[in-house]
Amino acid sequence: MADACLFCRIVRGEIPAKMVAENEHCVAFRDINPQAPTHVVVVPRAHVASLNEVSDAGTVGELALMAREIAKREGIADGGYRTVINTNADAGQTVFHLHLHLIGGRPMGWPPG
Ligand code: 5GP
Ligand code: ZN
Repeated sequence: MADACLFCRIVRGEIPAKMVAENEHCVAFRDINPQAPTHVVVVPRAHVASLNEVSDAGTVGELALMAREIAKREGIADGGYRTVINTNADAGQTVFHLHLHLIGGRPMGWPPG
């Protein structure tokens, strides 16, 4: 599964992506179809299909902290930003490697679609 997974392949450098940040736990890159001036996807290096399969609190914590650091660096921390984890069909998950979207740089509506 991890061999063919799109985000695993980006993590391994087999598919190019505009990298934004990385550490031992996770990798962040620009979304190929950005929904806002800043739209970055933060993924764990280790393959996990979705939040439903996560077994430790650290995984999601590392994603959130990396997103927070990128938001600061991109200058959207004070103005505000949104972090989203889509899980399975009703949320519109399309890539089944856990990822946290960091979206900002414009006002956003609530509730989301
Ligand atoms: P999901 O819909 O699963 O929450 O989010 C998947 C995201 O991955 C989408 O926003 C989509 O635009 C992005 N995406 C899909 N394929 C690629 C790709 O090859 N490269 C990059 N950088 N983003 C991708
Ligand atoms: Zn994967």
